[in-house]
Amino acid sequence: MKVPFLSLRDITAKYHDELRDAVCRTVDSGWYLQGDENSRFESHYAEYIGTKHCIGVANGLDALILILRAYMELGILQKGDEVIVPANTYIASILAITENNLTPVLVEPRFETLEIDDELIEAKITKRTKAIMLVHLYGRCAFTEKIGMLCKKYNLKLIEDNAQAHGCTFNGRRTGSIGDAAGHSFYPGKNLGALGDGGSVTTNDGDLAECIRALANYGSQQKYIFKYQGRNSRLDEIQAAVLDVKLRYLDEDNRLRQQVAAYYYDNINNPMLKLPNRLPDVNNVYHLFPVFCERRDGLQQYLKEHGVHTLIHYPVPPHKQECYKEWNSISLPITERIAKEELSLPISPVLTNEETEIVVEHINAFM
Ligand SMILES: *Cc1c(COP(=O)(O)O)cnc(C)c1O
Repeated sequence: MKVPFLSLRDITAKYHDELRDAVCRTVDSGWYLQGDENSRFESHYAEYIGTKHCIGVANGLDALILILRAYMELGILQKGDEVIVPANTYIASILAITENNLTPVLVEPRFETLEIDDELIEAKITKRTKAIMLVHLYGRCAFTEKIGMLCKKYNLKLIEDNAQAHGCTFNGRRTGSIGDAAGHSFYPGKNLGALGDGGSVTTNDGDLAECIRALANYGSQQKYIFKYQGRNSRLDEIQAAVLDVKLRYLDEDNRLRQQVAAYYYDNINNPMLKLPNRLPDVNNVYHLFPVFCERRDGLQQYLKEHGVHTLIHYPVPPHKQECYKEWNSISLPITERIAKEELSLPISPVLTNEETEIVVEHINAFM
């Protein structure tokens, strides 16, 4: 029996009738951008995350770019300012910083938790440090009281990259509402995924929200009057309608992910594997289930031969990418170790008990 890494077809099939109704309603409405579907989803998602504002945008990368860009337009960030960011993040978090002519300051994670090591942050803060981009990678809440304290002490903006952690919480507050602003991606494979690209920004800051809304609309607040040199970044009405349906099931879907994760934690016993520290379910919505193995490539091949499809997140860290040549010689040993040893096991709301058991059986049999 084959176990796919992620079956988007099965996830969509689960909500087939409601998704079809939502798409057909939008098709028939004759209104495809910036309409009622966007307004409805934005207000539902803001309510879900627990912020005053939500702005639908074209994708998660744009959400992060627009947050930083808006801080620049508002005079809070200036060209060349430094933004602290975990070194082991997906490239988008870093692209959003460099795209705005800001300087990313890469900070190592802890191997056991995979989150940015909050003990290393303070030493990296300079006069030019203006923000921390916190990434809730793999669905794990990366916020700590210490990070909150550092932001206060040094007057730093806290920006959350919540692309992988929709529904995750810290002390009862959802990620995406903890910092000053958050970017969310609705890429199809994310916990809350559209049937195409989508993203949003959440924030309690009214000025920031207004600026982002304008920047995403060519820099315009009033038709054909342009306040900023903006861009075009909109969430399609069809995607907003789809997301509004799937948002209703997000908590339930996250619970199903947590059940798969619990089975993995309780039953994987191959001594060659290391698992990240186990967080309470409220702090982890398991976008991915990363495991670590010194013989990672062998393990992946073995699982593949037994029909279990896995992926690597991510095989080459940002500082070793050609697009950031200037960092290629930097050494970030923990980030590099994660890239070498990480393997993501199948996890999703539609992974069956039988499939989960098969994955564990093969993992435990690997020698
Ligand atoms: C997916 C992702 C993004 C970007 O989202 P897109 O919608 O693909 O642009 C940003 N950051 C992280 C951590 C992601 O996983």
